[in-house]
Amino acid sequence: MQADSSNAGPAGRWPAGAQFGLFLSHDIDKIHDREPFYMLGSANHIRRMLMGGEKGSVRLALRRLGRALFAPKPPELDFQTILELEARHGFRSTFFVLHDRGGCRKGSRYSLTAPALRRIVKRIQAAGGEIGLHGGYYRFNQAAGYRESREVLRETLGVEAIGIRNHFLRFSGPETWLAQEAAGFQYDATFGYSDRLGPREGRRLPFIPEDPATGRKMDLVELPLTVMDMPLFRNLGLNGEGALEAAWKAIEPVIQAGGLVTLLWHNDCFNEPEYADWQWTYEQLLARLAARNPWCATGAEIAAWWRSKQ
Ligand SMILES: [Zn+2]
Repeated sequence: MQADSSNAGPAGRWPAGAQFGLFLSHDIDKIHDREPFYMLGSANHIRRMLMGGEKGSVRLALRRLGRALFAPKPPELDFQTILELEARHGFRSTFFVLHDRGGCRKGSRYSLTAPALRRIVKRIQAAGGEIGLHGGYYRFNQAAGYRESREVLRETLGVEAIGIRNHFLRFSGPETWLAQEAAGFQYDATFGYSDRLGPREGRRLPFIPEDPATGRKMDLVELPLTVMDMPLFRNLGLNGEGALEAAWKAIEPVIQAGGLVTLLWHNDCFNEPEYADWQWTYEQLLARLAARNPWCATGAEIAAWWRSKQ
């Protein structure tokens, strides 16, 4: 454990006298309903529910598959919903756009030149949100690959990506950070658990990683993850109040320590009757967090603030 031992944030740790920082984030793995891998995934989900006892509603999953085929959900809808939910509390968030090889199961599910993506990015920026890079599975730990992705984001979307979070939270320690640093990123948000709740290694605060070979402090800030939607609902199989309370149990110690609470909710679980609990839990968490008056900012703003305090 490398947990920071303080029980409350020292005055001035966060702007505006806030007790803790709040980083709301979303990985954009997909934007299209009618997309072969997404529909295949939905079909497999239905098969596993029928054969292997996976949790979920076969009726709602079939309805979702039918909708994807015959009346796909407009790609902007989920983003509009997320931005509205966050704006209720004056919150802004960061969305990580995936760039990787297309046509592969773990690759990109959308094109960066898709007009819908352009509209989504404009909408996020108009709401004061940030666009970062969702680092590709097939580019893992490759400085040149990450750099190319930054350039493609700049050329196709006019976005200067400052932050990165790797797809599937792929992370291998200093090699990951060194590759991201070499590609010019200022912060990473990959450091977290993909199968359980709470901060990895008890890290409740942003930190600047060191290169173990030289002891050099890297030119990169890590914003550690607190709670992601997947482990809550998939690995732990929770729903409703149970999910909310489990998430809160992981979040509260971070607030108590004056740390950074980072949430990761995927855009494609919104406006989905089968995943209504995912959205409901997010809404409830935002309301609870708002009541504690956090400093909520984009990843880029949080990283810049943390750097200025060093
Ligand atoms: Zn992802």
